[in-house]
Amino acid sequence: MDQVAGIYLHIPFCKSRCTYCDFYMGTNESHIDAFVEALSMEATLRRGETRDPIGTIYFGGGTPSRLQRHHFERIFDTLYGHYLIEADAEITVEANPDDLTEEYVAMLASLPFNRLSIGIQSFDDKELHALSRRHTAREAIDAVKRCQQQGFHNISVDLIYGLPGQTIAVWQRNLALALALEIQHISSYHLIYEERTRMYRLLQSGRITPVPEETSTNMFAMLIDQLTVAGFIHYEISAFAKEGFFSRHNSSYWKDVPYIGLGPSAHSYDGTNRSWNVRSILRYNKGAKNGQFEREKEQLSPQERYNEFILTGLRTIWGIDLRELEKRFGKEFLDYCRRNAQPFLERGVIRQEGSKLTLTREGIFISDGIMSDLMRVN
Ligand code: SF4
Repeated sequence: MDQVAGIYLHIPFCKSRCTYCDFYMGTNESHIDAFVEALSMEATLRRGETRDPIGTIYFGGGTPSRLQRHHFERIFDTLYGHYLIEADAEITVEANPDDLTEEYVAMLASLPFNRLSIGIQSFDDKELHALSRRHTAREAIDAVKRCQQQGFHNISVDLIYGLPGQTIAVWQRNLALALALEIQHISSYHLIYEERTRMYRLLQSGRITPVPEETSTNMFAMLIDQLTVAGFIHYEISAFAKEGFFSRHNSSYWKDVPYIGLGPSAHSYDGTNRSWNVRSILRYNKGAKNGQFEREKEQLSPQERYNEFILTGLRTIWGIDLRELEKRFGKEFLDYCRRNAQPFLERGVIRQEGSKLTLTREGIFISDGIMSDLMRVN
């Protein structure tokens, strides 16, 4: 491996499970100490995977804000001890509003973190309750203000839309309240009914009804319009940022740059191979005892790498660079892409500028269909 963009650390603990969530996490926090030791060991064992500087570190989860100062210090000591971390590395921690007390935020501010990603999801207490979130709208607003007062000026918040029963008016209010916080980044996703979730079971039993497709589309349009009018750049289908505040870490994923994923269920990518850690805290911690972590690996075929290139590129404002595509995958793949993109270019849902193909505004709304037509299946 000759280049690593970043390190992702999966912190698989939450106080309780939200109704829509299928991330790998557990609620037994008595495993945290052993987990942090295991994580430090994995980071140490895998240090040989890169000698290049690390530009981004991302603590995701789960709820990383369930960790305490000594946990973070242990992890940072390991990372700074074994990796070359760039002086201006972007270091993000995901946090839930209910954890962001005055004292906790001060603790985060005293560590190398320079970016916060706060899981707010909604500013409507009824919606927060239905999602089983553990904070109220007021608490979320106060938490963001506390973070700003403590010197965090690179803050992202997550918002979900398309919730059962959600109206356009409530969604509009959620957006207005998010914008009033004067944050730098917003990630916003439509609710997905993942099979392993309580939300999915409620849907199956007919106790909730999904929002009509037209409402979903209108909410997405409202998201794009209100945020861009407010000065945010829509740089990826679900991500909006003020100039200079794109997530460097996530941008690396979309730009096909390698990364190391540490912790249970974390994925890694070295430019050719994808690997993923065991999805079990207990088995992960056990791996630390014998110095052997369970990790599965697959080598991506040129076709799979081409499909990733299409999928990740088209999601962003950087689009697909046809010159780069030819360099990486050859003329046959280039011709395939061009041939399949042509009808979309004629319809005006893809535009070409120089060697770049990007989605037009109309194309963003049908991106899934476009991507799957540009991908190769045989
Ligand atoms: S806090 Fe996040 S990771 Fe934890 S259960 Fe809720 S959505 Fe899932």
